[in-house]
Amino acid sequence: MPPAMLKFVTVAKRMPDKREAARRRRDFAEIYADYDPALAAEQSARCSQCGIPFCQIHCPVHNNIPDWLKLTAEGRLEEAYELSSATNNFPEICGRICPQDRLCEGNCVIEQAGHGTVTIGAVEKFITDTAWERGWVKPVRPRRELGRSVGIVGGGPGGLAAAEQLRAKGYRVRVYDRHDRIGGLLIYGIPNFKLEKTVVQRRTDLLAAAGVEFAANVEVGRDVGLDELRRRHDAVLLASGVYKARDFAVPGIGLGNIVPALDYLVASNRTGLGDRVPAYEDGRLDATGKRVVVIGGGDTAMDCVRTAVRQGAKSVTCLYRRDRANMPGSMREVAHAEEEGVEFVWLAAPEAFLDDGAGAVAGVRAARIHLGVPDASGRQTPRPIEGSHFTVPADLAIKALGFDPEDLPVLFGAPELAVTRWGTVKIDRKTMMTNLDGVFAAGDIVRGASLVVWAIRDGRDAAERIHRHVTAKTAATTAVAAE
Ligand SMILES: Cc1cc2nc3c(=O)[nH]c(=O)nc-3n(C[C@H](O)[C@H](O)[C@H](O)COP(=O)(O)OP(=O)(O)OC[C@H]3O[C@@H](n4cnc5c(N)ncnc54)[C@H](O)[C@@H]3O)c2cc1C
Ligand code: SF4
Repeated sequence: MPPAMLKFVTVAKRMPDKREAARRRRDFAEIYADYDPALAAEQSARCSQCGIPFCQIHCPVHNNIPDWLKLTAEGRLEEAYELSSATNNFPEICGRICPQDRLCEGNCVIEQAGHGTVTIGAVEKFITDTAWERGWVKPVRPRRELGRSVGIVGGGPGGLAAAEQLRAKGYRVRVYDRHDRIGGLLIYGIPNFKLEKTVVQRRTDLLAAAGVEFAANVEVGRDVGLDELRRRHDAVLLASGVYKARDFAVPGIGLGNIVPALDYLVASNRTGLGDRVPAYEDGRLDATGKRVVVIGGGDTAMDCVRTAVRQGAKSVTCLYRRDRANMPGSMREVAHAEEEGVEFVWLAAPEAFLDDGAGAVAGVRAARIHLGVPDASGRQTPRPIEGSHFTVPADLAIKALGFDPEDLPVLFGAPELAVTRWGTVKIDRKTMMTNLDGVFAAGDIVRGASLVVWAIRDGRDAAERIHRHVTAKTAATTAVAAE
């Protein structure tokens, strides 16, 4: 007899065990243990099987959450996996790093009713990790080869989701990436304690086993032009992400030991992967023993503060110009950082970096902020409070202010490629095609800095649109040839 659902009345919400902060400060391993099958089943059975499942509505890939929760509660894990992987190429990655508190779990009906959300992300991770352990995760096998090819620029989640979908349809797929490893920000941005690299690597291996070709260390624009890719392939997908770090102009910004967040995170991730990183080895990108100040309030800032803690920083302070409620990063990440000893200074913005007398930073002078009237976007405008200055000592300052797109028309040697005034690639919303015939775009390069799950969604949608486009072109060519 399958267990009844709706157990939220009698069973409390329980996440998998979390390692104690004092222990996790010392290493880069993931912080949550796995659910055991009984606990996963019990927690899944808390779901009330809503007629209108708000969890699913608010999931960017519209995962069929209530159904896979029910299957998990009934111990039918292989079917649960089939269902969860039908809408998401990388469910175990989303289970680990989606900001569920802002998506499915934040909108779960029993969370809204005050019972505590169903632990959707943890169950999703459990289902897919189990599928990997039991050998249920298999490379896609196209029913037939189409004899058509697609070139994908960028091996991040957007490019990889599209690659899998297209390969399943029978396309020959080649992913070009300027990095030496495939995975985009999953490999070089997001730290191990949120997403272990092996979890990403086994996905890339699976795609390679499915026949997806990877051209690493190939920078489009430098090693091969967009024109050349258009000649080589029947369609091209741009999924190159956004990498131009935002900066600010305050006195002292040019001092030594003030570094962009991604340089710092890439160095840490590379070191963890066993690469030699001179700027880490000589101490420039290593927080060990330092007083670290991170400026910003998004996911990147949270990853920096938590990395600095693990590297053995003397102190770690995060300055953010709005308040806790207005942090763009996941609240769960903020809570983890606080547990790990990070000090948050809300409503504070840097005004100047102070010189240690030898050209390096010695501190950050900041002003207290008052949140004024909302602007056109509805967000309150931060205003410095006069005479409210204070100084935070710093040996290393990390700027985590967000990212903008690089100048793609220049970078790709394609001045005709249309971009928006923010530099993101312009696409036709219906076809996802840029103004260049056969060139599509997806992920952060279209949305601006966003989330992994949105990149996956875009990659999947783009694969459908590309298929439609190539099929129509092929049909038109065949018709002309037959005339
Ligand atoms: C530090 C950090 C932490 C984050 N944490 C989270 C999180 O916890 N949860 C979450 O959902 N999202 C998080 N994000 C956001 C998330 O990583 C991105 O939204 C997502 O990776 C975007 O996917 P993408 O495929 O569009 O681009 P990317 O992942 O950026 O991949 C783009 C790829 O294109 C390659 N490329 C770029 N230009 C070229 C070129 N000219 N030629 C060849 N290759 C090129 C790059 O090397 C890269 O591999 C985080 C972002 C950062 C920076
Ligand atoms: S909103 Fe919550 S309770 Fe309702 S179906 Fe989704 S997970 Fe279950």
